[in-house]
Amino acid sequence: METSIRCQQHQEFLVQYIFFQQKNIKFGCVECISELQDENQSVNIFKNILLLHDRPQKLLSQISNIDDQTLQFYSRFHKKTVSIITQAFQNWENNMRNFQKQIDNIILQQKGFVEELIANYKNTMQQLSHEIKFEEFQNLIKEFGTANEKLQNDVLDQISHKITQHFESLDKNNAKQLNESLKRIKQEYLKYQENINLPDVQEFQNSFQYMIKSTDDLHSQIGKSLNFVNQMNSAIIPNSYSKYLIGLIKNKLNQDIKQIKVIYLGSRDGLNGQSLWNKIDGKEHLIYIFKSKNPGNYVFGSYVSCKVKQDLNNWQSDESLSSFIFSYTHNEIYPLKQSERQHAILCQPISYAVWIGMSGNIGICNDFINGQSYLGSSYEWDKFENKRSSHLFGGDTPNIEECEVYELQI
Ligand SMILES: [Zn+2]
Repeated sequence: METSIRCQQHQEFLVQYIFFQQKNIKFGCVECISELQDENQSVNIFKNILLLHDRPQKLLSQISNIDDQTLQFYSRFHKKTVSIITQAFQNWENNMRNFQKQIDNIILQQKGFVEELIANYKNTMQQLSHEIKFEEFQNLIKEFGTANEKLQNDVLDQISHKITQHFESLDKNNAKQLNESLKRIKQEYLKYQENINLPDVQEFQNSFQYMIKSTDDLHSQIGKSLNFVNQMNSAIIPNSYSKYLIGLIKNKLNQDIKQIKVIYLGSRDGLNGQSLWNKIDGKEHLIYIFKSKNPGNYVFGSYVSCKVKQDLNNWQSDESLSSFIFSYTHNEIYPLKQSERQHAILCQPISYAVWIGMSGNIGICNDFINGQSYLGSSYEWDKFENKRSSHLFGGDTPNIEECEVYELQI
């Protein structure tokens, strides 16, 4: 909103601001602002000043009875939200278009490769036919096939004789000449084949991985900028899988999830038991996500609905039976057993970073390297054999590379 009203104190400037002083409202110009600044250098005067063309959500801060959480929600919308998202989409689209060019390119390369191979094959077959005079042989066979049965036997005999002669001539001198020719043709064939370049797909594979990541990044950016409070924006699992997990939890709890907060990132907060416990102490409805350094980079985790307490030094039970372990790698869910609900999670920070289920269905020591998985003792797994397994980690120990913990607000 633009005005053409001039400031009462500074006629040379236009009114651009609105000042709130208790119930008093005044209009002012840039000069008024700089005068105010000079008077109240250390005071935060700007909280009560709005640009006339400010974004609507900024007005909310001047209304005294707006619910705090609602206010926070709207204040997270940034003035540049639209341009940020447009830019992010633009970048993503450019990436995709480049990728499209790369696809066209690799199709051309592959086509050329296949065509060269076919040409070599055809050429070799032609040479082979020439060497064994295949066409002549075929003509003889044709002659033989079309010969009338009633024809005199000596005509058939003549053809048979010619065919025999054909073989004899090829076999001359123990087929010395033919063997040499066949060897030469074979060598030429193989040499040609060696010199055809197999298209390099490594770069294409890298680009493909990059496209997947780029798409995930776009979704994260959209989630952040447009205030998707029900989105995890995990760097370990894709948005589609986190949506699946959230849907599962909603169903189990039969309740809506108001907000999802990331409360711990190993790479940000320190990948050790103490740092983790400092962040999760006293919290409930937590989603843990782990990525292992073991070959295959296994990804797994757990949703634990009951409250974790540092000073409990004991098992915490989940009476709601909504907790579960998941394996993203195997796309499997392992729900807490009814008979084991008192062993949902062990709260013993001195020994363990994460100890979910009896004997550690997910058992991770404070160094995030050591631990064990006794999957199936407290959380249902149909392949449980009453022993440790490498099913979740892809190795004997968890060997964690990254861990994320999210708190769900119900
Ligand atoms: Zn003024």
